[in-house]
Amino acid sequence: MVSEVVKAVSPSATINLLNKEMELKNKGEKIISFSLGEPDFSTPKKILDFAIQKMYEGKTHYTPSAGIMDLRQKIAQKYKNENNVIAEAKNVLVTPTKFGIYLSYLTILNPTEEILIPDPGWVSYVEIAHLVGARPVFYKLNENNGFQIDEEDIKNKINSKTRAILINSPSNPTGSILNNESLKIIRDLAIDKNLYIISDEIYEKIVYEGKNISIASFDDLFERTITVNGFSKSHAMTGLRIGYVIASEQIIKFMDNVQQHTLTCAASFSQYAALKALDDEEDSRIMVEEFRKRRELIYSGLSKIPYIYVKKPQATFYIFPRFSYKGLNSMQMANLLLEKLKISTVPGISFGPSGENHLRFSFSTSQENIIEGIKRLEMLNDL
Ligand code: GLU
Repeated sequence: MVSEVVKAVSPSATINLLNKEMELKNKGEKIISFSLGEPDFSTPKKILDFAIQKMYEGKTHYTPSAGIMDLRQKIAQKYKNENNVIAEAKNVLVTPTKFGIYLSYLTILNPTEEILIPDPGWVSYVEIAHLVGARPVFYKLNENNGFQIDEEDIKNKINSKTRAILINSPSNPTGSILNNESLKIIRDLAIDKNLYIISDEIYEKIVYEGKNISIASFDDLFERTITVNGFSKSHAMTGLRIGYVIASEQIIKFMDNVQQHTLTCAASFSQYAALKALDDEEDSRIMVEEFRKRRELIYSGLSKIPYIYVKKPQATFYIFPRFSYKGLNSMQMANLLLEKLKISTVPGISFGPSGENHLRFSFSTSQENIIEGIKRLEMLNDL
């Protein structure tokens, strides 16, 4: 029999779609995919060359469980220089980013305790809570205010069981960045109610307007913030499964204990790739410039479709329009687009109740595909 904990975990909408699309592609179907949040660029050659060279040099063995020291130091330095966060190597654990989120929950949440997560928000925030026996509670992002924090709503969600607030800025799926006012609401609540903050900053490099601020840089917040980041999105390294967590020394020690009994350490060659990626701003910048062009293309294309109401995202490679079409909900709409137009998107409901009546389009696909996808969407009129 399967355990109650594992039974409570639903499949990931995004990863499930990935599996399905791969099957369809293998059968020769020409799907235009707007579903997966994975950069379509090759991993930069200089990163691969470096990692491969390290493998030939014999770096194919265990590393220290928390990560190779050079990498921990360099990540800390990056957060000091770019994000104004007072991290040192002892505050860094190298681990795949999604596993880092799991470790964060596991480390600070007791069973039945509550974590506040954004609605709409990334699909795994809910299920990782189930995986550690905790309770995910949605707080609303206010769409009319550019998906910022709704102070009244989040205050109402806090009770004696609440242990943490998770923020994700820039946001998957909305593409918005939390402004200073929103961050201050989170800061004040965390301090007043003695809560942890988990800050998922995986999209920090993919920004078109404004700048993302790391909440761990606020006075008094470093000790109660767990920052999670990685290289998948910034350097097109999704398959290398490499990222990191930044937190107080004590939290990192506990996480390291868990890592020692689960992963042992992150893959050694991926750690070397990450080391090189930290020196490679240029390739990342080129990818962001291409994403910027695609953002314009998809925004102007979707703006012309009568049933779709779209706002331009400030960051990420997601656009999250609202739609209204023949009374369909987001699951029905996504299915219709897939079956009739061979376009795949993620139904908004996968991101929480406020995501209903939205679709997430990932524009981490070529300009050619975007143009073809928009052309197909123009046929909605005739369905
Ligand atoms: N985070 C990306 C997405 O939302 C990749 C898939 C996943 O990990 O969920 O599409």
